[in-house]
Amino acid sequence: MAVNLDPDLLSILVCPKCRSEFRVDDEASELVCTNGACALAYPVRDDIPVLLIDEARDTRQEVAEG
Ligand SMILES: [Zn+2]
Repeated sequence: MAVNLDPDLLSILVCPKCRSEFRVDDEASELVCTNGACALAYPVRDDIPVLLIDEARDTRQEVAEG
């Protein structure tokens, strides 16, 4: 489902963990931190970003190691 966020709102949102900007992942309905060392993905529910570290998914785990 596409994420329908106000661009002005998105522009002021930052990752609560590392203060980096987000990119929107429409397929996953998530806001993904652009900091590669953090890379947390926050869910967007009913077009409202849930910017809670406890709710975030660590996308770094998707990268195979070794
Ligand atoms: Zn971050």
